[in-house]
This record gives sequence, structure tokens and C-alpha cells, in this order.
Amino acid sequence: MTDWTRRRICCLGGGILMAAAAPHIARGQSRPRVVVIGGGIGGATAARYLADLKTLDVTLIEPKPNHVTCFFSNLYLAGLRSLASLTFGFEALAERHGITVIRNAATAIDATARVVSLQGGSRLAYDRLVLAPGIAFKFGEIDGYDDAAAEVMPHAWNAGPQSDVLRRQLESMEDGGVFAIAAPQNPFRCPPAPYERASLVAYYFKQFKPKSKILILDAKDQFSGQELFQDAWSRHYPGMIEWLPAQFIGKTKGVHVATCSVITESQTFKAAVANVIPPQKAGLIAERAGLTDSTGWCPVDPVTFESTLQPAIHLVGDAIIGGDMPKSAFSANSQAKACAFAIAASLTGSPRFPPHLFNSCYTFLAPDDAFTNAITFAPEGGSIKTVKMFISKVGESAEVRRRMAHQAVGWYSAFTADVFG
Ligand SMILES: Cc1cc2nc3c(=O)[nH]c(=O)nc-3n(C[C@H](O)[C@H](O)[C@H](O)COP(=O)(O)OP(=O)(O)OC[C@H]3O[C@@H](n4cnc5c(N)ncnc54)[C@H](O)[C@@H]3O)c2cc1C
Repeated sequence: MTDWTRRRICCLGGGILMAAAAPHIARGQSRPRVVVIGGGIGGATAARYLADLKTLDVTLIEPKPNHVTCFFSNLYLAGLRSLASLTFGFEALAERHGITVIRNAATAIDATARVVSLQGGSRLAYDRLVLAPGIAFKFGEIDGYDDAAAEVMPHAWNAGPQSDVLRRQLESMEDGGVFAIAAPQNPFRCPPAPYERASLVAYYFKQFKPKSKILILDAKDQFSGQELFQDAWSRHYPGMIEWLPAQFIGKTKGVHVATCSVITESQTFKAAVANVIPPQKAGLIAERAGLTDSTGWCPVDPVTFESTLQPAIHLVGDAIIGGDMPKSAFSANSQAKACAFAIAASLTGSPRFPPHLFNSCYTFLAPDDAFTNAITFAPEGGSIKTVKMFISKVGESAEVRRRMAHQAVGWYSAFTADVFG
């Protein structure tokens, strides 16, 4: 890290009222200030695209020293990628893009004074605020499941230490064991991901623990990409993966940590390793700041991504009610760019563009078998609607699927370079 980067990436302690903490553009302040909360996919993209306009002062607040991508973390669980290869620092955003990165967590937002409070007591004034805090878990909906239980029955739905716990459990599981995945009800982060996880863990089991089984205890009766997954499971892993929908077992209502059991409305399932993915809501800072509605998610204007509940605060990524857009990294990235241009237009008078909203995902069924989708969206009637959709089909040749898997790796490099600079 250069001296310059060190100056740009700082940890704020307590008691400091940041210079120019007045709510609106202060005398002597040359450029409007945009503060971005959350250095994950949505926040890092928004900060980068705002800073690249060269007309705004951009500050990014993120408590973690680096970001581990959830996408491709299922490949890590299968032993096909290292966690280091999924980890990105914020140095390039500071050094190449001139963003001030503060390593701290936002604790409160005063929407009237336009000030963000940080852990330790510092305060930061803004002209516009962008929140991309990702998800929080509704722990209260699964009896016995909390942060401590997640150390034993990991969710691994934020990549990093949780992914590590789950990987180690899978490695030490005896052949013949049962791996249970409790999949949540909609809406949740990345709808195909629990089933991609089942596929890639099955790939790992097929190599190293062929007598083992995977049980998917689902809170739903259907799931994203179902035909493609079920086709792949019968081709690659016959008899290894069993999907139990809510109509047969009911929703997951509790866990018993000591026996590694998942309790649904009708049965108790004992597992050797249990991956409990709880129901979700917007990241806690959004809730605390009064930016969520009764659904637990944040309503936004679909053109500018400004909150419909608080002025001058924009939200992007998994935390929002995104209409037809899935909660995905690609969606977060696309929303963040639209949001950045809308903020620039309102603060600096730069041209307004209609938002270009897009999602494209690659989903692995095996290391050389992946499917894809590509969807365009547009704002319509206060929400975001699908305009055009392409999705892979059952019956595509092995060559087509191999090419998709190969393209996915290229996509990962290009996409993370776009987000983290
Ligand atoms: C297993 C799995 C596989 C996936 N695969 C794909 C895929 O193939 N393709 C795809 O497009 N998507 C995929 N996703 C989804 C994707 O990872 C998320 O949709 C994406 O990360 C959402 O971005 P975000 O910015 O909303 O949240 P995040 O990326 O989670 O970022 C939120 C950030 O906010 C920070 N934060 C929270 N609270 C505060 C606070 N108070 N102050 C400061 N910072 C705060 C957090 O530390 C975090 O860094 C996958 C997800 C999972 C779980």
C-alpha cells in the first residue's frame, strides 16, 4: 500500500466531527459530497462510478478490510477455488479512483441534518448518501438459530469466515454422511445459489465421499432454474441429491445444534453437516435509518434508486425491493451505475440517462457444466419489469455447457475488475 493509499484508506476513531459537517454544500467546498455505506458489490460499484465522474467527493464506508465475493464461493466449497482468489481489497478504489475509504461501520443516519454517524462517534456530512448494506438474517424465524449456532451450522451466505467453517466441515465429514441444506423462502440473496451449492458439493462428494447424500429442505415448492438443476442432478449425481419441497415437509422452524438437526414443520432431519440459510431482510443499518417497509426491504424509485421513504438517500443491491430484478451481484452492479448517473445529474447537472438495467448469471452444475441467463429490465409503473430474457435450456450439448463454464471464469475476472477497480 502506498503512502497515498494509506492516507485515503483510514480508520476513524471517536469524537471527530468531520470537516464541513454542514448538511449542504458548504462555503469553500468545491465539490458536492457523496457518502457510500457498504463496500460490497453495489457500494463499491457506486463509489467507483461516482468518483470516475471527477465532479464529486466520494467517501466509502466499509468495516471489513476486504470483500470476499459470494459468487464463486460455491466453487470454494467444492475445493475448486481458493478463498484468496475470491478476495478483493479497496486499495485500487482509493489509489486509482480517488475515493476516500473509511474502515468503519455506519451506526446511524440523520436524514434531516444529512449526517452519518460511525462506530466510535465520528460523524460525516453528505449531500447525497448511497446505501448498499446487503442482507441481514431474520434469526428470530428459526428457533435456536443465531450467530453462535451459525458457527456450528453455518449459513455461508456471506462469503468469508462462514464459507471456511462450512468447507472444513465438509472436508472432515465421513463418507456416508448426510449434508442438509435448509433453503429459505423468497425473496432472498441469489435464488439459484442453494441449488448450485448442492450441485458443486455433490461434485466434491462424488470424488471423495461417494456414499454421502445431500438433502435440500426447502421452504418453497419450486425454485429458480429447477428443470436445469434436476436434469443435471440425474446426469451427474444420480441418487445423491434429494430435494424436499415445503408441501411435504413444511418450512424450517428450528434447529437443535447439539445433534446437528434441522426441524421443519413436519419432521426432524439429523445431518452430519447442516447448512442453514435463514430468511432474509435488508442490512440492519437500512432498517435503523427507517428505510425499510413492512416487507423488511427498501422501496426505491426505479429510475434514480432514491429511497421513497427518505430524501437524498439512495439504495442499491440486495437491500432494495427491485421488482423483477433478482438479488444478484450483477443486478447490484447495474443498479449502482444507474444510481451514480442519477446522483451526478441532480448534483452537478450532468445529462440524465434512462437507466440501463441488466442481469446476467452463470450457474455451475459441475466444473465443466454451467448454465446462464441474461435479462434486461426497465422501470415501469413505479417498479422494475423484465423486458427480454434469455436462459439456457435442458438438452444443450456438453460442448455448449463447457463453453459456458469457461465464459463464467472470464466473466468473474472482468466483473470484479469493474467493481473493485
Ligand atoms: C452462494 C452465493 C452465490 C452467489 N452467486 C452469484 C452469482 O453467480 N452471480 C451473481 O450475480 N450474484 C451471486 N450471488 C449474489 C451476490 O453475492 C449478492 O447479490 C451481492 O453481493 C449483493 O451486493 P450488495 O452490495 O447488495 O451486498 P454485499 O455485496 O453483501 O455488500 C454489503 C456490504 O455492506 C457492508 N455493510 C453492511 N452494513 C454496514 C454498515 N452499517 N456500515 C458500513 N458497511 C456496512 C458489508 O460489510 C458488506 O461489505 C451469490 C450469493 C451467494 C450467497
